[in-house]
Amino acid sequence: MKVLVAIKRVVDPNVKVRVKADGSGVETANIKMAMNPFCEIAVEQAVRMKEAGTVTEIVVVSIGAPQCQETLRTALAMGADRAILVETGVEVQPLAVAKVLQAIVAKEAPGLVILGKQAVDDDCNQAGQMLAALLGWPQAAFASKITLGGESADVTREIDGGLEHLTVKLPAVMTADLRLNEPRYVTLPNIMKAKKKPLENVKPEALGVDIAPRLATLKVEEPPKRGAGVKLADVAELVNKLKNEAKVI
Ligand code: AMP
Repeated sequence: MKVLVAIKRVVDPNVKVRVKADGSGVETANIKMAMNPFCEIAVEQAVRMKEAGTVTEIVVVSIGAPQCQETLRTALAMGADRAILVETGVEVQPLAVAKVLQAIVAKEAPGLVILGKQAVDDDCNQAGQMLAALLGWPQAAFASKITLGGESADVTREIDGGLEHLTVKLPAVMTADLRLNEPRYVTLPNIMKAKKKPLENVKPEALGVDIAPRLATLKVEEPPKRGAGVKLADVAELVNKLKNEAKVI
């Protein structure tokens, strides 16, 4: 079975983000970028499935600037077989991502599509669910365990009240949650090998997909700075402050 994994290039989560001076977004020029952590988990899952013999080919897709090639090469070094860059300078929102992936699914006919549960830059948590809706496929979002059978997969999902166990018919769309696995580090020999793996470049227009943004960002601002804490003498003083200063009780 072929697995398609969607990976997004985002600002490295270890970098402290800065808002652009004009408030139009977050500064990304000269900032360290990395694979979205939930996408890394999705790639790791596909690689483990291949190692277990249930998957025969892993295709990774990224939509964005030419630099996404670096992110795709990282996925290839982790163990993916082939990469597709859907190159665009337009900021792709979740609906556009879902439409592009729908077109790639039509070409590649995978048995399973795995995405991250959310991109840590926009925190949308939408692309996977939208893709499943567009394809009319079953979906299992926030997967923390996936067991592939022949025609179906058993999935444990992280939900508010605990864990939910589902059986979904394949082909299906799944999104990876934090506890699904711990992604491997890429080794130097695998980085070298990844350079020789195929990386195809396509444009959204060639896929016949309209990726024009549907939402406009009005303003991005830093959260208000937190004031320093104070030590209180006793509970009576705390109650007094909550009542008369914070006015929350
Ligand atoms: P979001 O709905 O934006 O939080 O993204 C959820 C998931 O959709 C990500 O973890 C990726 O798997 C996928 N995704 C979002 N944006 C892109 C992109 N530009 N290229 C490839 N995959 C993406």
